[in-house]
Amino acid sequence: ELSPEAYRRRHEITVSGDKVPPPIISFGSSGLPSEILKEVQSAGFSAPTPIQAQSWPIALQSRDIVAIAKTGSGKTLGYLIPSFMHIKRVSNNSRLGPTVLVLSPTRELATQIQDEAVKFGKSSRFSCVCLYGGAPKGPQLRDIDRGADIVVATPGRLNDILEMRRISLQQVSYLVLDEADRMLDMGFEPQIRKIVNEVPAHRQTLMYTATWPKEVRKIAADFMVNPVQVNIGNVD
Ligand code: ADP
Ligand code: MG
Repeated sequence: ELSPEAYRRRHEITVSGDKVPPPIISFGSSGLPSEILKEVQSAGFSAPTPIQAQSWPIALQSRDIVAIAKTGSGKTLGYLIPSFMHIKRVSNNSRLGPTVLVLSPTRELATQIQDEAVKFGKSSRFSCVCLYGGAPKGPQLRDIDRGADIVVATPGRLNDILEMRRISLQQVSYLVLDEADRMLDMGFEPQIRKIVNEVPAHRQTLMYTATWPKEVRKIAADFMVNPVQVNIGNVD
């Protein structure tokens, strides 16, 4: 097995932050719970992708993280797998509201994230609800009332449901902004700010993005505390 430095060089991983933990190079040495390893094995994955390898140990230290890697690099499980361990650890009553909130720019992406959460969280029995526009609110509100550990939502629909006071974000302690660059391109910044205002300040915040323009840097600075930054490849 490669040294942490050699692994980072080979996979063009750059990190910045205090005492960044070494990457988790293999599933065998990962220390992940057996029910999660069982799922990655049945998916046929041979090793963590570089963004997973480097962001898992940081997220598992409950630190804020900015992860920048191109599309298709496995960012979804980069934040979902540590979220499963977070849910286990805090062990909230899901009827009082979600522990994990993932914001995603579109219905299609939100649905894909939910599919991965259901697939990889199956043996851990987490419940996940997906909220997006362009569909009736009724079934989504009923899903919320049944309770969910994880809510995956587009900012517009979640903000509508918040204004109706039909969901509480008071238990959220793991907040993910996925495809932050696209959400800002789509003009969701005001909704994102309203949503983040409803999440307690004592939380872990994770931002996954394909690019790192100044608009994204600005919200990262506003929403995160002393984040570790991980880049894969030559992203600006
Ligand atoms: P991104 O969010 O970076 O665009 P995704 O999370 O959508 O990437 O992942 C892209 C594809 O890679 C998905 O089909 C996913 O199931 C698959 N994948 C994720 N992790 C691994 C892994 N460790 N090994 C192989 N394939 C993986
Ligand atoms: Mg993605």
